[in-house]
This record gives sequence, structure tokens and C-alpha cells, in this order.
Amino acid sequence: MEMIQIKKCDVSVCVYNKQNMCHTFGITVGSHAECNTYNHGSQSGGFDGVTGGVGACLAADCKFNDQLECRAPAISVEGHSVHADCATFERRK
Ligand code: SF4
Repeated sequence: MEMIQIKKCDVSVCVYNKQNMCHTFGITVGSHAECNTYNHGSQSGGFDGVTGGVGACLAADCKFNDQLECRAPAISVEGHSVHADCATFERRK
């Protein structure tokens, strides 16, 4: 089983963001589909050669969620007000 990749993140003020890509190994997505790894600071984080993935996701009502793990083909993350959200979230019917 492979970690789900983050294909794009437009939250350029996050310490792990470079050129609209996430560079930490694995983010945690919270119960409201927010990226809990988002951090606004002056220090740059992550490694250039790393493409971010979803380490865990607590959004149990997303249709891609299976046992609190993400099983989407890939996700994207977008800024929303003062936080970052998983833009691939789709509420389970
Ligand atoms: S697509 Fe759904 S399961 Fe995957 S990270 Fe986003 S909210 Fe979580």
C-alpha cells in the first residue's frame, strides 16, 4: 500500500511549500479535512527531493477515506481563509 501523493498545494506561505508543491513526507488531515501540518513561519521546511503525501486523514465522512486513511488517487490542498484544506474531499453520500 502506497502513500497518497499531494499533487499540488497552493498555500505558498506554508513552511513546507515550494513552488506550489508540498515537501514534507506526510501531512495529517484533520476531521474537517483541514491540513493539520500547515505551518506559517519564516523557517523553510521539508526537502526539495520529497513530494508530500498523506500520512493520515481523520475526515471519516470523505468518500475516499478508509479506516482513517486516504485512498484517493492523489489529493490537492488549497488555502481557505487562514488555514489549508484538502480540496479533494468529497462528502460520502
Ligand atoms: S481526499 Fe478525503 S480521505 Fe483523502 S486526504 Fe482528502 S479528505 Fe482525507
